[in-house]
Amino acid sequence: MNLEEMYRNMGISREVWAYGQKIEEELRERFAAIDEMAEYNQLKVLGAMQACRVSDIHFAATSGYGYNDLGRDTLEEVYAAAFHAESALVRPQITCGTHALAIALAANLRPGDELLAVSGKPYDTLEEVIGIRPSKGSLAEYGITYRQVDLLPDSSFDLEGIRAAVNERTRMIHIQRSKGYQTRKTLSVEEIGQVIAFVKSIRPDLICMVDNCYGEFVERLEPTDVGADLCVGSLIKNPGGGLAPIGGYIVGKEDYVENCAYRLTSPGLGKEVGATLGVMQSFYQGFFLSPTVTAGALKGAVFAANVYERLGFSVLPDGSESRHDIIQSITFGTPEGVIEFCKGIQAAAPVDSYVEPEPWAMPGYDSDVIMAAGAFVQGSSIELSADGPIKPPYAVYFQGGLTWEHAKFGILKSLQKLADAGLVDLDKLKA
Ligand SMILES: *Cc1c(COP(=O)(O)O)cnc(C)c1O
Repeated sequence: MNLEEMYRNMGISREVWAYGQKIEEELRERFAAIDEMAEYNQLKVLGAMQACRVSDIHFAATSGYGYNDLGRDTLEEVYAAAFHAESALVRPQITCGTHALAIALAANLRPGDELLAVSGKPYDTLEEVIGIRPSKGSLAEYGITYRQVDLLPDSSFDLEGIRAAVNERTRMIHIQRSKGYQTRKTLSVEEIGQVIAFVKSIRPDLICMVDNCYGEFVERLEPTDVGADLCVGSLIKNPGGGLAPIGGYIVGKEDYVENCAYRLTSPGLGKEVGATLGVMQSFYQGFFLSPTVTAGALKGAVFAANVYERLGFSVLPDGSESRHDIIQSITFGTPEGVIEFCKGIQAAAPVDSYVEPEPWAMPGYDSDVIMAAGAFVQGSSIELSADGPIKPPYAVYFQGGLTWEHAKFGILKSLQKLADAGLVDLDKLKA
């Protein structure tokens, strides 16, 4: 059986397959550049592991208090080395990205301090952490205030707005690399470096924290290379490489990371406790694979942008612009488009491929939402996944793919579903 027949057996028609092949062909140069990025970042991670003398004893499980957990302490050295940072906190006790961000904020702010977000409204789950939406245990309840400066319409920083918003109570600056569920552009590491330099020129003691979710290993530099004091992310996104079953990381300046450890565990205990229960091998191995896994996801995003852009749908980022995270949004303009796309992604999954996702009212959302995720790790979004709120403009957010081959199949499957439902013009596929 040849490759086309393999696809046919998996439910992809000749037209859809041929259209995909043509798009892939045109993306050769783009993909070569992504491969080179993976190569660069592979050496970065490998170099960090070698410098920290990683050995198989580091994969051993610890229990109880987890005193002297060599694997945990060495992994934190590896992260610090790879991010060119002074220190790191990388733990299975950090339950998700939101938790890691909440720790970084609560650990370094005190009553009376003010947090200033300079890239507009933070990711949805942070609204309750900060207290933008009233919530139990929020920073607002502890007397920490919040101010926000939106990006300008062209997604650049509002420098004059930032200057005017900084006051004597300002203590931390929040910068979010990825756009999340917004329609702005994702920030490049270079742009993040520029705004950090600007903030430090106003007051050098302001703590600049970057939410790095979905951005790891998409570029050569990370926010810690351009002056970020703290850089935070989730291990069930890029840096876990698909293998980490849980976890989050915080890297940055020694003092600030130490504060995070005291907040995560307890004053007095800090980094000294926290058993790792046997997850260390997956953390190390996932980090080792992360540059190539991220590259696969990035190719999937670029491929999807080009597949759907040429069919007349609006895509963000567009098919040719440079990438700073792995998220792709596609606007279908109809509920059916969103639904069929998500059904295709689900049908392409290695896990739960036989279930059909349906729009549903989810807590925290003001419309029904449809989600496709057939993941080895629940909710993992470095694995192929998509979701879309059922409301105008009827856009889906698509990300992940542990391998480029899987991402490609998922996108072709989504296109097949749209074609079968008569939502794309098959003649256009031939064009
Ligand atoms: C995913 C994400 C978060 C939150 O991470 P969870 O692991 O879902 O809690 C925060 N910020 C951004 C930009 C994200 O993409």
